[in-house]
Amino acid sequence: MAKKIVIDAGHGGEDPGTSANGIVEKDLTLKISEYLHKRFDELGIPNEMTRTSDITLGPSERPTKAQSFYGNSNDVILLSNHINAGGGDGAEIIYSLRNSDKLSNLIAQEFAKAGQNVRKYYQRRLPSDPSKDYYYILRDTPNNESIIIEYGFADSTGDDPSLLKNNWEELAEAVVRAVASYVGVPYSSGSSSLNTHVVKSGDTLWSIAKKYGVSVEELKEKNNLTSNALSINQVLLIPGEDESSVEVPSSSEYYTVKAGDSLYAIANKYGMSVDELKDLNNLTSNLLTIGQRLRIKKGINEENTGETYTVVKGDNLYQIALKFDTTVDALKTLNGLNNNVLSIGQVLKIPSSDNNEIIYTVVAGDNLYQIARRFGTTVTAIMNRNNLATNVLSVGQKLIIP
Ligand SMILES: [Zn+2]
Repeated sequence: MAKKIVIDAGHGGEDPGTSANGIVEKDLTLKISEYLHKRFDELGIPNEMTRTSDITLGPSERPTKAQSFYGNSNDVILLSNHINAGGGDGAEIIYSLRNSDKLSNLIAQEFAKAGQNVRKYYQRRLPSDPSKDYYYILRDTPNNESIIIEYGFADSTGDDPSLLKNNWEELAEAVVRAVASYVGVPYSSGSSSLNTHVVKSGDTLWSIAKKYGVSVEELKEKNNLTSNALSINQVLLIPGEDESSVEVPSSSEYYTVKAGDSLYAIANKYGMSVDELKDLNNLTSNLLTIGQRLRIKKGINEENTGETYTVVKGDNLYQIALKFDTTVDALKTLNGLNNNVLSIGQVLKIPSSDNNEIIYTVVAGDNLYQIARRFGTTVTAIMNRNNLATNVLSVGQKLIIP
């Protein structure tokens, strides 16, 4: 069963949490939570937030809200984000009595890599009933894998206030790496994350280059540096983040459920059957929630017509059709063209050629017109090729697409 994440921004509304050194806990936990939400979305990890604005969630409302998305189930990871106070320095992670320390340990390791010292990760028992968790957010989400992450001490005399103010994204990204590893989703750095590094005491160009897997030369070039001198809080651009990223499912392989959607409509849209869609997403019922992310198969067009042609000077549709053994109409349909005008550099999708026929399995909701359009052919061509006497299709029927 794929893990789902509930992101809890600690405190909020009438309850600001800790405040020190210009850090207000409820605001920073919301920023961190929004960041995690965006990043989990990018990685295709299903996730929801208990609050997305400055609202008050009481001790009974919060666990209820947390369980409103994916239920009280052990494949749900609840990350409750907090900022500490009380004079220490460093991160703390509290995991529930029912869970192992594996995720906390991963987060601790990633915090360390991000330059944050970790005081401890631990469990805490309720004095009046030591069989129960001390913290209600762990205690009252009894089957979820719930952890509290204290990112640092707002009132520390050490480097926590500076880290929390300037490097909170790096700390949040550390949690993203840990969670991705824990749930078994390939990690990649995001489009908007960590393209910069804020220089900390003790940093050198060499250590920064090593950290991001780039060379000192690349780093200097990207930032127009003429010497190796750095100053604290200097912001460096990190080159090549995109190129260095690990393979990750592209966003086109996920679909976010909108109001009015049904499994049937979504399956139909992507040329899948409802059962395929349910299997792929481990769904046991047909109920969808708005914002839910569904894994989908790559579009039929992408799978079957990998070929494209870039228009050069002097081209016309007739010539191109001839060249690829197709028709002007098929080209126009596949590319959504409503006239014959081409522009130089335009990329055209090329319909599959005859000697590479596609077998298509009819799914609920299909009709010949749609299928013909999808494959850049015509209803008549499909009917002829399959000796169809009528245009009535049945689900599961196999069609040869010319
Ligand atoms: Zn707190």
